[in-house]
Amino acid sequence: MEIITHITDVINYIHVKKVIGQEIGFVPTMGALHEGHLSLVRASKSKGLLTVASVFVNPAQFGPNEDFHKYPRPIENDIKLLESVDCDVLFLPSVEEMYPETPNIQITMPFLTQKYEAEHRKGHFEGVMLVVSKLFNIISPDFAFFGQKDFQQCAVIKQMVKDLSYPIKIEIIPTVRETDGLAMSSRNRYLSEEERKKAVGIYQTLMYIKNMVQHEKNTKNLLRHAYTFIEKFGFTQIDYIDIVHADTLETLQEAHFENKPVMLITARCGTTRLLDNMYLYEQ
Ligand code: AMP
Repeated sequence: MEIITHITDVINYIHVKKVIGQEIGFVPTMGALHEGHLSLVRASKSKGLLTVASVFVNPAQFGPNEDFHKYPRPIENDIKLLESVDCDVLFLPSVEEMYPETPNIQITMPFLTQKYEAEHRKGHFEGVMLVVSKLFNIISPDFAFFGQKDFQQCAVIKQMVKDLSYPIKIEIIPTVRETDGLAMSSRNRYLSEEERKKAVGIYQTLMYIKNMVQHEKNTKNLLRHAYTFIEKFGFTQIDYIDIVHADTLETLQEAHFENKPVMLITARCGTTRLLDNMYLYEQ
């Protein structure tokens, strides 16, 4: 695997590959990799794409009281994991490389970034859109791979690609879970043993409601059941639970197959925020 740290070098490297007809698949990450990230690399490789993963902990998407400095950076292990799935290129820029000066531009998306993560993490999606658009310009991939786990992020990226006419196909890959159902996340390593046991409550609540939707369509009732069910796991705080349309993220009154209902849950286990989601009907 090639490890490239400079923007001009990766641009040149990819240019040469494109000239000989190779298509590029891109997997942006913040590192501390796990099976979830690797599934995105595998999806890219299985399409026969020259696969570029990036590892960059993006300061622009962290709020002032968030974990930017303490975010895990086990880069040696990340390199081993990427090699184990045959990733072709790791783009590993420094903060100075990506942001030699404070950027002047701001990207906003009023509609999709009002609620949910946006409400709890001010400026988060603006930081995500900034870094992803910079990375898209640098890597100029044909395909880019994102995890369903970050459902709102997927909606925002798809909209950004449409609005800015990026010639990139966005592929959304299903959430990879631990054996008990907990969605894999780089932040799971912050959980104490006791918190780890509680954490499964999010998945169990999603499954509980997914079963219930067979005979209960009213989302107010479903949400009431969800809040009652999740309570017993003892989360420190439930940031939000909602049932939304998969494409518009608009809150639904009724959960029918046709309006593609997705349940979103974000809860805090100790100080760790855990987010997850599930389609209430297989799509
Ligand atoms: P992150 O490093 O957390 O920014 O995540 C990088 C990419 O991996 C994003 O597209 C995430 O949605 C995706 N991802 C994170 N966790 C999982 C998971 N458990 N299953 C599938 N994709 C994931």
